[in-house]
Amino acid sequence: MASLKKIRVGNIFIGGGERIAVQSMLNTKTADVKASVMQICRLKELGCDIVRAAVPDLEAAEAIREIKRLVDVPFVADIHFDYRLALAAIEAGADKIRINPGNMPKDKVALIAAKCKEREIPIRVGVNGGSLSRELHKKYGGVTAEAMVESAFENIKILNDCDFDDICISLKASSVPINVAAYRLMAKRSPYPLHLGVTEAGTERQGIIKSAVGIGSLLLDGIGDTLRVSLTAEPEKEVPAAYGILSAAGIHKGIEIVSCPTCGRTRIDLISIAKEVEERLTGIDKPLKVAVMGCAVNGPGEARDADIGIAGGDGDALLFKKGEIVRKVKEDEIISALLSEIEKM
Ligand code: SF4
Repeated sequence: MASLKKIRVGNIFIGGGERIAVQSMLNTKTADVKASVMQICRLKELGCDIVRAAVPDLEAAEAIREIKRLVDVPFVADIHFDYRLALAAIEAGADKIRINPGNMPKDKVALIAAKCKEREIPIRVGVNGGSLSRELHKKYGGVTAEAMVESAFENIKILNDCDFDDICISLKASSVPINVAAYRLMAKRSPYPLHLGVTEAGTERQGIIKSAVGIGSLLLDGIGDTLRVSLTAEPEKEVPAAYGILSAAGIHKGIEIVSCPTCGRTRIDLISIAKEVEERLTGIDKPLKVAVMGCAVNGPGEARDADIGIAGGDGDALLFKKGEIVRKVKEDEIISALLSEIEKM
């Protein structure tokens, strides 16, 4: 159920069956060009397709010009209330802007829409459960999926009335069930690309769990064109988490680590080995299944089924590649042996 409409953000297309794009948001001061560019480069290295940054003042809007000169990652300017910041961000070269048209005067939204049209850049309508209008709150008795979808259509109408249709939508709530229900409803009723996310999802641990359930269930329904895993953590944590969710949903074919939970049969320090292998392979974008298994019960089977893997013994392990035993390695050589074989692949 990918969206019918397609939009372009810089050199990336979103919607209409295109690859699902991964986004993150800078936590630097946007006006600090050096810090912002460095963070964008780190995010790009991890596979981030699009970055968003807060534009709270004119200094931040102006900084976009220099940031865009230094990096080629599509840049989304996040703006609230002040239409002048939106116009300045567009002038400075933003590839997309995120606004809530409902919290700006209509004639000012018309100015923004005209400028976006002239520059051929889209607008994301970002509905957030925390900022629903008082009327919708009252009508639906609080934050509900229906209230959020109605809010999205109110915002869409404002833009459509300005003869603007280059739109993508997000409907974020901090409650996962409401979040999922809102996106499902929207996907049935609208042709616009959907930006998935669970807002204020929490710290790294809780945020990844909530996002995996919220975003993951939508992806399994075939809903979603781009996504961000929002974490109360460094943005650099968000991108691998997004790819982890895409990979678990069977959409992104990246590194997949299959590791056993360990038990009384484990005779090597499998937990540390699996953690280190995962860390060392973070950011590598190759479709590889890597098995890190504790013993001979399920180990050889999983390791054989993987592209590469180990099955632990007593202070050593068997190294498998494409279903064949390569050799036996000592425990302290497991990680280096595994990584050097992966490098050759
Ligand atoms: S693979 Fe072996 S060590 Fe790992 S959980 Fe299964 S039985 Fe235990």
